[in-house]
Amino acid sequence: MFLTNPVALIGNDAGGVVEARCIRMELGEPDAKGRRKPQPVAGSEFAVPIDVVLVAFGFDPVPIFAAGNSDRIEVNAWGGVVVDANQMTSVPGVFSGGDSVRGPDLVVRAVVDSRKAADGIHRYLQELSPAPARP
Ligand SMILES: Cc1cc2nc3c(=O)[nH]c(=O)nc-3n(C[C@H](O)[C@H](O)[C@H](O)COP(=O)(O)OP(=O)(O)OC[C@H]3O[C@@H](n4cnc5c(N)ncnc54)[C@H](O)[C@@H]3O)c2cc1C
Repeated sequence: MFLTNPVALIGNDAGGVVEARCIRMELGEPDAKGRRKPQPVAGSEFAVPIDVVLVAFGFDPVPIFAAGNSDRIEVNAWGGVVVDANQMTSVPGVFSGGDSVRGPDLVVRAVVDSRKAADGIHRYLQELSPAPARP
């Protein structure tokens, strides 16, 4: 259903789901970038009978699980990985990019980040062990 937002899932005593409560959305006025943001239509709530919910895709980062130094990787309030200009995280030698840094975005931007990270990794490794001076 286009321009429809689920607002609640209703369960039964057996732990199953029985109803999705939804609301109709409409496109608002264009913002400064010309994008029309969906907004709820007041009083348009309706119910859809259901017995299963599949969360088809999500736009939240997978939480970083504590392993090695990974729990020291700084994340922002949304859970996105914080990186410097070289795509390096708060853990030296650990780099990140793409959706985990930017949030939901485009493949091309993930590719740009990976190219920047490759340069950053190269520079980082060179600083760790500079190439021997040529005779
Ligand atoms: C439904 C949908 C449609 C989209 N359509 C478009 C489109 O038309 N055009 C476009 O440009 N972009 C589109 N995007 C966005 C695009 O897919 C992303 O911006 C892009 O894939 C980001 O690349 P990424 O490498 O940062 O992350 P991902 O492609 O998400 O890659 C991250 C990888 O890390 C793996 N991973 C996660 N946790 C771990 C772990 N602990 N250990 C090992 N591996 C792990 C995951 O399995 C995954 O393979 C779409 C996204 C969605 C969800």
